[in-house]
Amino acid sequence: MHVFRLKGNFETLDAYTPLLFDLGARGLEEKPGEVWAYFPTRLELPLPGEWAELPDTDWLEAWRRDLKPVRAGPFVVLAPWHRWEGPEQRILLEPGMAFGTGHHETTRMALEALAERVKPGMRVLDLGTGSGILAIAAQMLGAWAVGVDNDPAVIPQARHNAAANGVSPEFFLGTLENAHGVFDLIVANLYAELHAELAPLYPTYLVQGGHMLMTGILSERERLVDNAMRAQGFESLHRRPEGEWVHLIYRK
Ligand code: SAM
Repeated sequence: MHVFRLKGNFETLDAYTPLLFDLGARGLEEKPGEVWAYFPTRLELPLPGEWAELPDTDWLEAWRRDLKPVRAGPFVVLAPWHRWEGPEQRILLEPGMAFGTGHHETTRMALEALAERVKPGMRVLDLGTGSGILAIAAQMLGAWAVGVDNDPAVIPQARHNAAANGVSPEFFLGTLENAHGVFDLIVANLYAELHAELAPLYPTYLVQGGHMLMTGILSERERLVDNAMRAQGFESLHRRPEGEWVHLIYRK
């Protein structure tokens, strides 16, 4: 396993998190004065840091040990070894090599928004499904959920996580056009530039009046996404800032 060491901590480097995962990071870990990003192969990164080598299992074990349950709306996200007595609906996730354990604000805000907006029987698309967490939550809320991701490594993990929760969203390798359908709601935890690029495609995959739940957006890039969505005729319904992130909801 290759590790890219960046100076800082989770808070100061939070803005880079989606980019690191997008570039192929399989997990992040906070160390004194540094954040370690684990990659299956070395690559050219547009970020300041240094590469180092580790035996394959180290990082996963350390990360597992430190992982805490996360509450989000009616849900609590648990690893299989966590014990939980509360009334929350449990989402069990085997912490693996995909983004989406609920620990990132962007995922947590999406879970909370899904809980408020998803009604039984709705068709929901989770674009960039990662661990499958948002598709799993949507299905638990009574939706017919589909998850797509363009990283082949995450699809088996998403399926495994869904089975562990007794739900069966469909997972496809690819992106919007591989989702096979038109949806009442799309939830997407992607970065701002990608949302802006995909905005012209979103209407094709949403019913009239359908909702777009957009997360992964740094507040300073909100304008970029908002302009792109308004240019497609979307109506802004809600914005929720948290830390450096903003969660945006639009209606077609
Ligand atoms: N949905 C999970 C969550 O909210 O925690 C994971 C979100 S993670 C930030 C983004 C995911 O989107 C990654 O798994 C990445 O592989 C995937 N992704 C990036 N670009 C994509 C694209 N154009 N189409 C489909 N998936 C994409």
